[in-house]
Amino acid sequence: MTKVAVIGLDSVPPSLLFDKLLERLPNFRRLYQGGLHGDLRTCDPPITVPAWMVMMTGRNPGKLGIYGFRHRKPGSYKDGYIVNSAHVREETVWDALARAGKKSVVLGVPPGYPPKPLKDGNVVSCFLTPSKERPFTYPEELKKEILDLTGGRYEFDVTFRTEDRDTIKRELFDMTRTRLEVAKHLAKRKPWDFFIMHEIGFDRLHHAFWKYFDPSHPKYVKGNKYEHIAEEYYEAFDRGLGELLRAMPKDTVTFVLSDHGSKGMKGGFCVNQWLEREGYLRFRAKPAPATDLDKADVDWAKTKAWGWGGYYARIFFNVQGREPQGVVPPVDLEAEKSAFAKKVMSIKDGEGGPMSNEVFEPDKLYGTAVGDKPDLMVYFGGLDWRSAGTVGHDSLYLSENDTGPDDSVHSMEGVFMANVPGKDLGGRELRGLRIQDIGPTLLKLYGLSYQDEAGVDGNAIPEVVEACR
Ligand SMILES: [Zn+2]
Repeated sequence: MTKVAVIGLDSVPPSLLFDKLLERLPNFRRLYQGGLHGDLRTCDPPITVPAWMVMMTGRNPGKLGIYGFRHRKPGSYKDGYIVNSAHVREETVWDALARAGKKSVVLGVPPGYPPKPLKDGNVVSCFLTPSKERPFTYPEELKKEILDLTGGRYEFDVTFRTEDRDTIKRELFDMTRTRLEVAKHLAKRKPWDFFIMHEIGFDRLHHAFWKYFDPSHPKYVKGNKYEHIAEEYYEAFDRGLGELLRAMPKDTVTFVLSDHGSKGMKGGFCVNQWLEREGYLRFRAKPAPATDLDKADVDWAKTKAWGWGGYYARIFFNVQGREPQGVVPPVDLEAEKSAFAKKVMSIKDGEGGPMSNEVFEPDKLYGTAVGDKPDLMVYFGGLDWRSAGTVGHDSLYLSENDTGPDDSVHSMEGVFMANVPGKDLGGRELRGLRIQDIGPTLLKLYGLSYQDEAGVDGNAIPEVVEACR
C-alpha cells in the first residue's frame, strides 16, 4: 500500500536549498542524499497561482484558465477578481485518488479557499483565506480541532510588504511553527494515503528579506541584523520537518517540491508609462507620482493598450466591440500584437544595454487558453525586472517595487526531491523535470491516472516510478 507525502515549499530555488543551505539542514539533507533531486522547471507565468494547480492537475495555465492571483473582469477597464478554489475545474491528484477510494490530507495548497469537499479527506484552505472567522476546512469541524490545537494561533499568511521587518520576522516564524504543528497532527491522527502540505512562509521570507541575506543583491549591507535570517528560517523548518517525517509511517515516499524559485530583483519597469511614451496609452490629465492606473484619468477613447503590473506584465488591447470604448478594430488586433511585440523586444535596460524581454501570446504558448487571459504576456529582462503598473514616475526604471517593499522576484526553477524508504538512490540528479510532470507521477505511484487524460501536459517521471517499484 503506497503512501506518499509532498512537502510543498513556496518559492524555494535550488540555489538556496541545494547549493547554499543543505549542509545545515539534516532532514532535507537525508532526503537529498538518499534520494533523487533536480531543478523543477515551473510554468509560465512562474506564479504561485496557477503553479501549484499546474503541478496537481498536470495541465498548463491556459488549460486551467488561470494566469495569476487576479484576473481582469472581461470588458472592464478597472474591475478584477481574485482567483479562488472554485476556478479550478480540472481534476487534482487528490480528486483522482478519492475517485479510487484513496484518502488524502491537503493542507494549504493554493488556491484552496473556499475549502472544497473531498470524499474521506481532510482539507485546510490556503494563504488566500480571508479570515479565521470563515469556514476554512473540510470537514467543517476540523477548523475547531486546528484552532484548539494551536491555541487559536493558526495563521494563513503574514503581511510582508511593509518596512516593519521585526514584526514580519516574528509572525513568519510563528506561522510556520504552527503550520508544522498542524501538519504533524494531521499526519498522525487522520487516515491518509496521500499527504500534501504547502508552506507560504518561504516566499514571504524571500520577498521581505532577500536583500538582507543575499550578498549578491545590489542593496545587501554586510553585518545587517537580518543577515542570517534565511539560515534561521530554513533550519527552523528543517527541525519541524524532521518531527513531521517521524510522525509518518516508515514506508512513506516523500517528495519536496517548490512551485518556482526566487532571485534578487533588479528593479521595476513602468509598463504603462512606456505605453504612454509609445502612444498606446493617453491620459486626460498628467498623473500624480506613483498613481495606480485605476486612479489615473485615462482617455480611453484614445488608448490602444494598457498593462498590469506584477512579476510579469499582462497587456490588454482596447478592442472595438470588446471593451466599452474600444478603438482597435478586431481585424487589426493580430497586426497590433506583432508590432507591439517588436517594440517590447527593443526596450533597453536602465543602463542602455539590452533588456532581453520576452512576449507570449496565450493561445500560442499554451495551445489552448481559456478564461480571462490577457492579450499578451511580457517578461522584462528574464523576470529580473518586475512590471510596474503605476504611472507618474520620473523614469521608466524603478529601483524599488511600486506596491511596497520587496526585493525578490520569481525565477523559473524550483526544487524537486524524491525519497523512497528502503532504497538508496544515491543522491542522483535528474534533469529536464517539469512542474506538470508531478501530478501524473504521483498518480502513477498508485497505479492511477487522471479521469480525463486528454489535455494532460505532464508525463510520469520514469526514474521516480522505477524507484518506487
Ligand atoms: Zn509561489
